[in-house]
Amino acid sequence: MYSRCPHCEHQQTVSTAQLREGRGLLRCRYCANTFDALASLSDEKDETIVLPLDIGLPFDGVAPVRPVRRIWRVANLCVLSLLLLQAVYFERDRWSSVAQAAGFRLPGYYDPAQWSLSHGELRRAGDSHYVFEAVLTNQASIGQSFPALKLTLTDFNGVAVAERIFDASLIGAGELAAGQSQSVHLALIVRRDDIGGFIHSLI
Ligand SMILES: [Zn+2]
Repeated sequence: MYSRCPHCEHQQTVSTAQLREGRGLLRCRYCANTFDALASLSDEKDETIVLPLDIGLPFDGVAPVRPVRRIWRVANLCVLSLLLLQAVYFERDRWSSVAQAAGFRLPGYYDPAQWSLSHGELRRAGDSHYVFEAVLTNQASIGQSFPALKLTLTDFNGVAVAERIFDASLIGAGELAAGQSQSVHLALIVRRDDIGGFIHSLI
């Protein structure tokens, strides 16, 4: 025989011995709630069970109630999760502050707009060798992972002649605390003699 738990809609097998032992009450194997197994007793698996409608109002006969299908619960959960994700994503700065204040953190907070690069300088350090130096400041109200740096070298007419993206791991290890600055020192080899300037951006 089968019986359906009214709390989670899960159908499970039940024997006469179990019914006798529990005096008709059964503990759900899925949600652990105890329920009246006799109310939804059935001989066939997955049969739609008709439960009496208990609304305390007089009515003729027994109104059939379709159990809430589990798929709707899953769909509702999905929608709720999406809303939560949106809330976290669009207000991640504030959420991260809250999380940090509470003693834990959201992993890898990072917003390229909250970094500033100043004192950028490109100098020649030998034949084909250049060094790019700058100061990177975290302007966010919380610590964040280092950004990657895109450096474009130009000739004396401002025309881009070389470009390189420095991975975040080359800029700094881990995270930089809120309001802190760190100097950046990057060595690069450029086999050109006409480097006249540079453009940088954080990505
Ligand atoms: Zn259940």
